[in-house]
Amino acid sequence: RIVFLNGSFLPIEEAKVSFMDRGFLFGDGVYEGVGVLGGRLIDNEAHLTRLERSLREIRISNPYTREEWTRLQEELARRNGMTEGFIYFQVTRGVAERDFVFPEGAAPTVAMFTQAKSIANAPAAETGIAVITVPDLRWERRDIKSISLLAQVLAKQAAKEAGAQEAWMVEDGYVTEGGSSSAFIITKSGSIVVRPLSNAILPGVTRRSLLQLSREKGIVLDERRFTVEEAYDAAEAFLTSASNFVLPIVTIDGRSIGDGKPGPLTKRLRQLYLEMALSPAAG
Ligand code: PLP
Repeated sequence: RIVFLNGSFLPIEEAKVSFMDRGFLFGDGVYEGVGVLGGRLIDNEAHLTRLERSLREIRISNPYTREEWTRLQEELARRNGMTEGFIYFQVTRGVAERDFVFPEGAAPTVAMFTQAKSIANAPAAETGIAVITVPDLRWERRDIKSISLLAQVLAKQAAKEAGAQEAWMVEDGYVTEGGSSSAFIITKSGSIVVRPLSNAILPGVTRRSLLQLSREKGIVLDERRFTVEEAYDAAEAFLTSASNFVLPIVTIDGRSIGDGKPGPLTKRLRQLYLEMALSPAAG
């Protein structure tokens, strides 16, 4: 397995990061993840735009141009023979003596790896998944894709221990988002409900593309917060993320959503997203 670290492609066994790296000591960095289907990076421009924004917000200068990032991503996928899956890439503030304030002159640490994964024919897309709700314990800048993910680690572990595959985080009675996905419900009257963008959630790239597709198809969208009770009572529920596209949710906290099977509109949205991803104009 070949990974990318600080300018080099090398076997993962040889890719070593200093234990004084601020990513390791402080979680001082940001990351991105982009889906790959049919050998193409899906919505990569939007992922690079979000990376740029995350870096700007925490005041790390972007080590590469978009063209450079794209070339490195494509080269890494090629070297790993990966045509379907996920590319993870992160930038930390670099290596320095431990001190909270920014170090002077440290070069950012850049790391990137691939994970082969079946996206288009994922079994979970057929069966749907279970989610549980947990309190949202995160900080107030969830719009930054920070590598500090302790709250999500605990949330997703709680989900696993409850036999579920994702945790929906809840604040003031309203669902914010999933541990690593955007959260959607479809009401009994057929409108898609999704929380509006703010500092309370990550601006999901898949969320954005799906909303655009829905608008084009004239599907009713309602960008507003929704409560856990509304979700229990919804006709359908689903999540979106770069590594799953659109995934149906069939239970929330053990309660069946709709008839407990992936819903028709969710299936249609997944199909629309797949068609967009596979179309020559994508990426
Ligand atoms: N929300 C959170 C907290 C995430 O970590 C992710 C993805 O990892 C998402 C939403 C989905 O974002 P995207 O569609 O850009 O993958």
